[in-house]
Amino acid sequence: MTEGLAAGLSQILGDRERVFTAPAVLDRLSHDFYWYSPILRPRLANKCADVAAQPTSVDEILAMLRFAGRLRTPVTVRGAGTGNYGQCVPLERGIVLDLSLMDKLEEITPDGIAVCQPGLRLGVLETEARKQGWELRMYPSTLVKASVGGFLAGGSGGIGSVAHGGLRDFDNVRAFEVVTMEEEPRVVLHEGSAVHEILHAWGTNGILTRIWFALAPAVEWTQVTVAFDTFAQAFDFSESIAVSTEWTKRLATVFEWPIPSFFTPVKNLVRDGRALALLMIANEQVHALCAAAESAGGEVTFVGVYYGPRTQPLLSDYTWNHTTLWAIKADPAYTYLQCGFSPKESREQFRLLRERYGQEILFHIEFMKNGDGVVIPGAIPVVRFITEERLNDMIAYCRSIGVFVANPHVNYLEDGGRFRADNIQLLAKQKYDPRGLLNPGKMISFQKQKVTP
Ligand SMILES: Cc1cc2nc3c(=O)[nH]c(=O)nc-3n(C[C@H](O)[C@H](O)[C@H](O)COP(=O)(O)OP(=O)(O)OC[C@H]3O[C@@H](n4cnc5c(N)ncnc54)[C@H](O)[C@@H]3O)c2cc1C
Repeated sequence: MTEGLAAGLSQILGDRERVFTAPAVLDRLSHDFYWYSPILRPRLANKCADVAAQPTSVDEILAMLRFAGRLRTPVTVRGAGTGNYGQCVPLERGIVLDLSLMDKLEEITPDGIAVCQPGLRLGVLETEARKQGWELRMYPSTLVKASVGGFLAGGSGGIGSVAHGGLRDFDNVRAFEVVTMEEEPRVVLHEGSAVHEILHAWGTNGILTRIWFALAPAVEWTQVTVAFDTFAQAFDFSESIAVSTEWTKRLATVFEWPIPSFFTPVKNLVRDGRALALLMIANEQVHALCAAAESAGGEVTFVGVYYGPRTQPLLSDYTWNHTTLWAIKADPAYTYLQCGFSPKESREQFRLLRERYGQEILFHIEFMKNGDGVVIPGAIPVVRFITEERLNDMIAYCRSIGVFVANPHVNYLEDGGRFRADNIQLLAKQKYDPRGLLNPGKMISFQKQKVTP
């Protein structure tokens, strides 16, 4: 099987250098950060592709999909493999298509649209954009490694979302070209609202090959940390900055103790027992921010300019899902949830969760704007894993008190939290991948009969 596939792919690519069959390489290219979840860890550890290949052009992708389609062989796309719920793990073997060599930034248009290939790293785009007076509207904390295509297909938002919302909001993603897995694969342009058919569908219904991604005018940013005696104080202060339009900000994060104690390289930013707020604020507002923090009872413990992805320390390395990574490093019994608290009821929701679960749940807040323009307390709480039943109980309880949960302990789109109720991702799968060969098993509502819109 492997040899036959490898021979066919080598013939298409015209060389064997970009086709991989060595078990260690296949294992690496078949996995991501799925091990964040103690539930997914044993389920996905042994999943592996038969072969991996690195195309460098759309024509090569078209030829490979034609070949795989004829053989009814599954194809799973990979960007940089930083997804955190096994999105790019091939469940049914087949071919992994590693797009890391398709990494060209074609241009940044005068009105601030980056036109690029999917394998372009977000960190490279941020650096190049800033040279031209632009910057990413939002990026995951995996900025340096993650690819633009993987972010659009597997991510949701990140640093910058407090001002610009998530990937699905405010026309942040303008358009992309998608290669289909039809009997005769083709390239289809998706523009405007049509991007939502493919966005965050984990490569189950098309392969992004050319992307138009909206940027924002560059701002000179400063990173600031403020320590508070209590989580409530840190939350109130950060919320006041996050929701007010007077502040130009890129990040508003809050950690309750002991989360900051996990951040080994920057542990000195906060004394034992205190909560930490972490913000990125426009340079000209730093003095006003520090004054506001002090009058709210905070102690400013760090002020440092952001120079781009190479800034040291890069405080975003401790935010979003990097927080979870530091927690797991400190104690492997930790895992996480991905939540959205209610802007009006959040304090009561925190109280109820603390009452029921005590220190089993530790609050980590990331303020973000939703599609209606309301800034909400998004959250990636650190959770002590006891049993699967206990974790599911916590998810069900969160939902029962109005806390949104995108469950990161499942490996299919529908419960992952971004599946569309209007079924357009599923309809696109019926249309573009009727044989179910793209990343099979990740869209469980897919069946080979038609659904009505
Ligand atoms: C420490 C850590 C921190 C993180 N922080 C964040 C965060 O702040 N915000 C956030 O949203 N996510 C976050 N993530 C998740 C992940 O890093 C991001 O979503 C990232 O952008 C994924 O990019 P990637 O290139 O690694 O994608 P991959 O992991 O390679 O792929 C992700 C999914 O997209 C599919 N895919 C990849 N390329 C394409 C393509 N060209 N066409 C179609 N499908 C494709 C894959 O099949 C897979 O299903 C974090 C993960 C970790 C481990």
